[in-house]
Amino acid sequence: MALVNPSFLQEVKASKEFNATACMNCGVCSAVCPLEIDLLPRKLFRYVLLGLEDKVLENTPVIYQCLLCKMCEANCTADVNIAENIRFLRSYIGRKLYKL
Ligand code: SF4
Ligand code: SF4
Repeated sequence: MALVNPSFLQEVKASKEFNATACMNCGVCSAVCPLEIDLLPRKLFRYVLLGLEDKVLENTPVIYQCLLCKMCEANCTADVNIAENIRFLRSYIGRKLYKL
């Protein structure tokens, strides 16, 4: 079961690096991603915006698979800084899971 973590939501909102509020959930980013992984990046950002930290943490290997190629970003009509958002999530995971 997915649980909302309010402190995760608070950290995301306070962060200058993560910003997907303009996302319209259109799915273009996932359609052009060369990895063709269902989670990346549209669904992942949905999880984050809903505060579902456990869903983010359980998908750590996928988050590290992203190539940061920005193919998604170049095609996003809402100008979401997708690669920067992924970097933020990696840094969050590092702090949370590996105490980096
Ligand atoms: S292309 Fe942009 S607006 Fe569309 S789902 Fe992806 S991040 Fe959101
Ligand atoms: S930056 Fe990551 S999510 Fe975006 S297209 Fe490249 S591999 Fe896919």
